[in-house]
Amino acid sequence: MNIILLGPPGAGKGTQAKLLEQGRGMKQLSTGDMLRAAVAAGSEIGLKAKAIMDRGDLVSDEVILAVVGERMSQPDIKAGVVFDGFPRTPAQAEALDGMLAARGQKVDAVVEMKVEDEELVKRISGRFTCAACGKGYHDSFDKPKKDGICDVCGGSKFIRRADDNEKTVRDRLTVYNKQTAPLVNYYAKRGNLHSVDGMADIKVVTASIGRILDGI
Ligand code: ADP
Ligand code: ADP
Ligand code: ZN
Repeated sequence: MNIILLGPPGAGKGTQAKLLEQGRGMKQLSTGDMLRAAVAAGSEIGLKAKAIMDRGDLVSDEVILAVVGERMSQPDIKAGVVFDGFPRTPAQAEALDGMLAARGQKVDAVVEMKVEDEELVKRISGRFTCAACGKGYHDSFDKPKKDGICDVCGGSKFIRRADDNEKTVRDRLTVYNKQTAPLVNYYAKRGNLHSVDGMADIKVVTASIGRILDGI
């Protein structure tokens, strides 16, 4: 089963994608994480992407599709993917349809996560992740059980993203509304769009997504 978590920055896509990996054995494909890995490695793609990401713009469809195409060719991903942060433009959505069709698959469900703008700013301003395993946390909404220790892997080093500041968040929201929100209509027309209240608690959102996936 291939599903897309569609929603603005801070909607909870990464949080829910990791829970789907644990709960259902699906694979998270986060283009944001893949680009940050490329930046950290200093690869050619990373060098191209860094300045664009720092100001909250979208990296070109060409670069994104190259990165996703390469990941999709790896065998571990055959059973099912949770797309997190991809697609973000109509051109990416069309390319994904083509990539999946070529292997006899399709997008089985698109889950739109709806969250109000002021809540998104609060979430992103308090976001941090475990440097070792990537588990996401929040200063107020999702703290590690033991202060300074990752619940999942026991790591004690945490990182905050350079683009997770209020100014860039507001720019990222504008970019989302202009370039990515049209995908809601794109998938509504194909009949595979579902919506959840992303304002609810993390566990409640997980349950809502679970009901959608169980129903298809
Ligand atoms: P996205 O991947 O959509 O940008 P994240 O999953 O990273 O969003 O979530 C953004 C921040 O909000 C993180 O700090 C996360 O811990 C927190 N968060 C995620 N879901 C919820 C929720 N339902 N309620 C409150 N905080 C949440
Ligand atoms: P968020 O947690 O805010 O949803 P991501 O981690 O998904 O953010 O993405 C971080 C940045 O990486 C984006 O602001 C953008 O510059 C770039 N990026 C990630 N995915 C894509 C994509 N599918 N298309 C274009 N740019 C992308
Ligand atoms: Zn960890």
